[in-house]
Amino acid sequence: MTARSHDLEVAEVVRETTAARTLVFDIPDDLADRFRYRPGQFLTLRIPSERTGSVARCYSLCSSPHCDDRLAVTVKRTAGGYASNLLCDITIPGDLITVTEPLGTFGPRGLDGDLLLAAGGSGITPIMSIIKSVLVAGRGSIVLLYANRDRRSVIFAARLAELERRYKRRLRVLHWLESERGLPNSRRVAEMLRRHRSREWYICGPLGFTTVLRSAAAALRVPSSRVHLEEYRSLTANPFEQPTASAETAVVDPPVDRTGTTTTLEVEIDGATHHFGWPRTTPLLDVLLDNGIDAPYVCRESACGTCVCSVKDGRTRMIRNEALIDDELAQGLTLACQTLPESPDVHIVFDQ
Ligand SMILES: Cc1cc2nc3c(=O)[nH]c(=O)nc-3n(C[C@H](O)[C@H](O)[C@H](O)COP(=O)(O)OP(=O)(O)OC[C@H]3O[C@@H](n4cnc5c(N)ncnc54)[C@H](O)[C@@H]3O)c2cc1C
Repeated sequence: MTARSHDLEVAEVVRETTAARTLVFDIPDDLADRFRYRPGQFLTLRIPSERTGSVARCYSLCSSPHCDDRLAVTVKRTAGGYASNLLCDITIPGDLITVTEPLGTFGPRGLDGDLLLAAGGSGITPIMSIIKSVLVAGRGSIVLLYANRDRRSVIFAARLAELERRYKRRLRVLHWLESERGLPNSRRVAEMLRRHRSREWYICGPLGFTTVLRSAAAALRVPSSRVHLEEYRSLTANPFEQPTASAETAVVDPPVDRTGTTTTLEVEIDGATHHFGWPRTTPLLDVLLDNGIDAPYVCRESACGTCVCSVKDGRTRMIRNEALIDDELAQGLTLACQTLPESPDVHIVFDQ
């Protein structure tokens, strides 16, 4: 088990639709601080497998930290999928599931802005958390575009209708049912959302859906700094099967760089400052884990944004970046799993 994961008891399993179940977790008092979260974040669940020991899958929190007592994720079956079907088929109250602490950077920083939210199928889960949070604890207004195969597959249909009634002026839901209108395409989506192009956009769902919404936003000239994406896919990495290095190697003196191939790294994380030698070809996250630092990460492939941190001094570059938008790069944010050093000294802070 990684340092940032815990066994949680399933308190309740709610049947949302034929294909979707919500798993509600009880958080023991001593873990309450560790499971504080922002709307839009996700948990990574460890699902046992006889074939590989386990697989790791991310599931967004559909509960809101502003109005729900317990944490909940909603899992929708993927046709032929391993973990989603197992979770929907066999999970019962009382089961213990190993989960990471809440992670991720998707979701608004404040609750008072006007948002355009777009969800494809199970992409509604973080969006639901954002909607409840904004309506209950903020002042923003929301337009939601919600795409589903047909009426019966709409997760949270009744809850959304109830919220729309209660917050008439602040929530408007635009359903897109494939059974009636065919698959969403960018031209028709752009026509539908033209009036809402000045809002901040948050889009969540599988790749096909996020691609259509991203093109619609581009066609409407919504600046990329206002378009935020969470793309659903399965992890290939497994943070539960990759234990971090022993804490005994935690602090080392920064080595003198005589060859020009090692950078001196100063890193601030969890209230402590450490100094390490950073080989020019080793990603930052690997250096931290090898030195026993409990840095946050999940996918290690630039997609989830969990290992985001700030470059305060020095130059770095990323091998790959699928999670950060231009504005965030301009602010000096970087993904530790992809970051290589380019100057003799670099100062990094985990402050996100
Ligand atoms: C940030 C994020 C948030 C997400 N949030 C949600 C959410 O809120 N709700 C939701 O429904 N989905 C969510 N997802 C998607 C979710 O993580 C999974 O991708 C999805 O549930 C499909 O997983 P699956 O294992 O069922 O399917 P697949 O990944 O398609 O499973 C098939 C894979 O499992 C392997 N496999 C098959 N049998 C076994 C076995 N016995 N042992 C080991 N491996 C096996 C196969 O080789 C194949 O690669 C999210 C994804 C991300 C990245």
